[in-house]
Amino acid sequence: MKLVLHVEPGIVRQPLVSSVILETGALVNIERAKVDAVSGEIVIDVSSDKCMEVKTAFEQRGVKVVLLEVPVIRDEMECIHCGACISICPTGTFRFEDFKVIEDAGKCVQCGACIEACPQRALRLILK
Ligand code: SF4
Ligand code: SF4
Repeated sequence: MKLVLHVEPGIVRQPLVSSVILETGALVNIERAKVDAVSGEIVIDVSSDKCMEVKTAFEQRGVKVVLLEVPVIRDEMECIHCGACISICPTGTFRFEDFKVIEDAGKCVQCGACIEACPQRALRLILK
C-alpha cells in the first residue's frame, strides 16, 4: 500500500525513513521523493500487513501521512483510449486490454505526468 509523507520544516533533516524502518522492521520502497532543505513529500510503498504500523510510526515523528488508496482517476466518458498516458507513465499504471485503456491505480505514485499528457483532460489526481 502507498503512503504519502508530508515532512514539514523542523523535522526534514531527521533520519525519518531509516528510523521507522528500524523500529517497525518493515520493507519500505521509496517510489517518489521531493525533498529540499525545508520540507519534503515522499511516496512510499509498504506491505499491507505493516502499513498501519508504519503510518503510526511516521505520525509519532510529526509527519503528516495520507493513505493513497486510489491515486489517479480516469473519466471513462472522456477517455478516447489514445494511449498517451501509457507512453508517459513511469510506473506502468495504464495498459491496453482489448484495445481499451485500463489502469491499475495502485501503481500510481502521483507524479502528475499523465495529467498534462491526456488530450481529453480525462485524468485527475486524488488530492491529498
Ligand atoms: S491519455 Fe487520456 S484519453 Fe488517452 S487513453 Fe489516457 S486517459 Fe484516455
Ligand atoms: S500520475 Fe499518472 S503518470 Fe504519474 S505515476 Fe500516476 S498514473 Fe503514472
